[in-house]
Amino acid sequence: MARATRRDYYKILGVKTDATHEEIKKRYRQLALKHHPDQNNNSKKSEENFKILSEAHQTLINKKKRREYDLSRTRQGSAPRRDSWGSDWQNSAYGNYSSPPGAESSRSNERQRQRAGSPFGQGFAEEDVPPDPNRPMGGFDLQFMIEVPLTLVALGGTLPYSYEKYVNCSHCEGTGAVDRKPCPECEGKRQVVESVTIDVKIPPGVADQYTLRVEHKGGEGRNGGPPGHLYLKLCTQAHPRFKRIKNDIYADISIPLQLAAQGGPLQVETLNSHRTIYVEEGTLTGEEYRIPGEGAAIMWGNKRGDFVVRFNISDN
Ligand SMILES: [Zn+2]
Repeated sequence: MARATRRDYYKILGVKTDATHEEIKKRYRQLALKHHPDQNNNSKKSEENFKILSEAHQTLINKKKRREYDLSRTRQGSAPRRDSWGSDWQNSAYGNYSSPPGAESSRSNERQRQRAGSPFGQGFAEEDVPPDPNRPMGGFDLQFMIEVPLTLVALGGTLPYSYEKYVNCSHCEGTGAVDRKPCPECEGKRQVVESVTIDVKIPPGVADQYTLRVEHKGGEGRNGGPPGHLYLKLCTQAHPRFKRIKNDIYADISIPLQLAAQGGPLQVETLNSHRTIYVEEGTLTGEEYRIPGEGAAIMWGNKRGDFVVRFNISDN
């Protein structure tokens, strides 16, 4: 990402985020005069300041560039964006409305660092410009941990998943106000929590703990901002009979002593079918029988691992 977009051009120019073209032009002219190297004994500092000032001006004066910059601000989270990256995985609930204390403090530290590190120190602006509530803001990214049955992890498929996210309040159309009073539905917060259900596509053979990114399924954006994304950490549910090791599926199967001693056919249930295998004469506990191509899918490929039967000889 371009580092330059990290700078707060509005703050540098000392204008509000909804400043008009004329306001920006006027403010730039004032500041350009003040900070022009000619006026400052051609100091290195004034040169640098002047460069940044021009950069801010060029970006905000151009409609297209300004729009892109505004969007990048919301995406980078320089606008107050309540996501919870860096926090623990949430098991349920939307949970991301208030970030955990750790995440919050690291963000404000970051902000302080940026401010301190800025060549403008306190910035050109005489005072802090309060964030404009009407600027486009990206929706929250959401992250959850979901349990996926082993057969689905191994072979892929869809899994319905319900979660809660912030959406724009339909009562006030996301403005927070009705007849100039706070909207009774969202209490002026512009957004409300809604429960949604989506079909999650589980890729065949996905690794345990894999984080799936579901685009645009996070919280809805405000004032035309883009929605956030949904990140799902896929955790394999324990299966009563099967165990997965890489692309192979293991099953411990008890067979009677007589079958183990004399050998004979045995029907076994695999991930998605039934197979008849032949137990060799004199089979011992712990011995394995491999059925090729009946294991978990190999991710991004067409092949499958093996299904491995591990015999356990019972006394009777
Ligand atoms: Zn409302």
